[in-house]
Amino acid sequence: MLTSKVKGKDTRPELVVRRTLHGLGGRYRLHRQDLPGSPDIVMPSRKLDLFVHGCFWHRHENCKMASTPRTREDFWQTKFEANMARDRRNETSLKQLGWRVEVIWECETKQATRLFDRLKTLLASGDGQSESRE
Ligand SMILES: [Zn+2]
Repeated sequence: MLTSKVKGKDTRPELVVRRTLHGLGGRYRLHRQDLPGSPDIVMPSRKLDLFVHGCFWHRHENCKMASTPRTREDFWQTKFEANMARDRRNETSLKQLGWRVEVIWECETKQATRLFDRLKTLLASGDGQSESRE
């Protein structure tokens, strides 16, 4: 069992986001290795990158899922800071390449209606080229 694996591909929150996007008719690619940070979901026609972040590892602000363990606090702090620094770096690099970057938090994927609305808004706002007609 790979229980220690921090960031697996195809995590449950990611699958939820993908399913919702699919329902909205969004077209996407997954894990583009050639982009900084290898965004979880890439929508080339909208120049939109989505990261599906776990609240704990990526420190979702004011989120109850992002509590700091009481033991080995220094260890966790160091780890969290490295994660956040890497996230910021990736976001900056992607923006320099002309991408929009959005983060979908794990806790957001637990509220189907809100997630649906959020993604719908995202798709609508990026639809400058109107390629979404079936
Ligand atoms: Zn959260």
